[in-house]
Amino acid sequence: MSLLTIGTVAFDTIETPYGKADRVIGGACTYISYAASYFTKNIKVVSIVGDDFPESELEAMRKRGINLDGLEIKMGGKTFFWSGKYHSNMNRRDTLSTELNVLADFNPVLPASYKSSQFVMLGNLTPEIQLSVLNQLDGNQKLIVMDTMNFWMDVAWDALMKVVARVDVLTINDEEARQMSGEYSLVKAAEKIHAMGPRFLIIKKGEHGALLFSEGEIFFAPALPLAEVYDPTGAGDTFAGGFIGYLANTGDISYENMKNAIIHGSVMASFCVEKFSIERLKNISEKDLNDRLNAFKRLTHFDLK
Ligand code: AMP
Repeated sequence: MSLLTIGTVAFDTIETPYGKADRVIGGACTYISYAASYFTKNIKVVSIVGDDFPESELEAMRKRGINLDGLEIKMGGKTFFWSGKYHSNMNRRDTLSTELNVLADFNPVLPASYKSSQFVMLGNLTPEIQLSVLNQLDGNQKLIVMDTMNFWMDVAWDALMKVVARVDVLTINDEEARQMSGEYSLVKAAEKIHAMGPRFLIIKKGEHGALLFSEGEIFFAPALPLAEVYDPTGAGDTFAGGFIGYLANTGDISYENMKNAIIHGSVMASFCVEKFSIERLKNISEKDLNDRLNAFKRLTHFDLK
């Protein structure tokens, strides 16, 4: 089934305890699309870059079956730029700078063929743009998933709430769930966030996995313990891409299937963090994928005596 994905396509400068990567390819939409491309080939991107963005990288995305008809290339414009620095505890990072550049006055116009996409992933970017995309859809979507972050809670709360009210699934991290709800307990935070709109809530906890909340039910998926995490940037987006890509591939949006989708999202995120930028996501073999799915199974399986 078709998957529409929006979000930033970006340059990132990242510092982790393992080293520094300067102006590498990043962006929520980039990570989401690469991750989803391992499950579905019907991915339609809505985003914007400047003419400083390398054509070779766009070509690499097309080669993975990602449709870029809805990606605007603004002549003379500069691509969105983000830089961040991770602490030695890599669950924590500081944003050093966010330059919206071409994103500041992006007004997306959806190609006609995008409007009936059954699955929609509203990746992290300006809530006004997420809203504008929602308003252009034909209204027959099967599932709308949204990701956001504290930055937009701080600068665009009202618009953010309008989007949150219209989505089926919200994915945010634990600190953002606390900020959004004003509750420390994640169970209470989930109750409040459900009341804002989303039937399903996924709270990401970095290396401690993710929680799925729906109608009083809670499911937990761990993250795979890895010997070395080089760069956690994009892990949340990659998780979301694997999650929705798996759902779009199976067409089943039941709570039970969402559990499988979360495991697939976690598997993709475990690859993402192994190298800087999108490098590891460019080339994952079927064997790599299956081995890791089995590693997840072994990690969590036990027989209750
Ligand atoms: P994550 O580590 O999953 O939070 O995603 C990191 C990616 O999000 C980076 O590649 C950045 O380019 C992008 N990013 C950082 N800040 C923002 C923002 N305020 N809005 C949208 N995308 C962002």
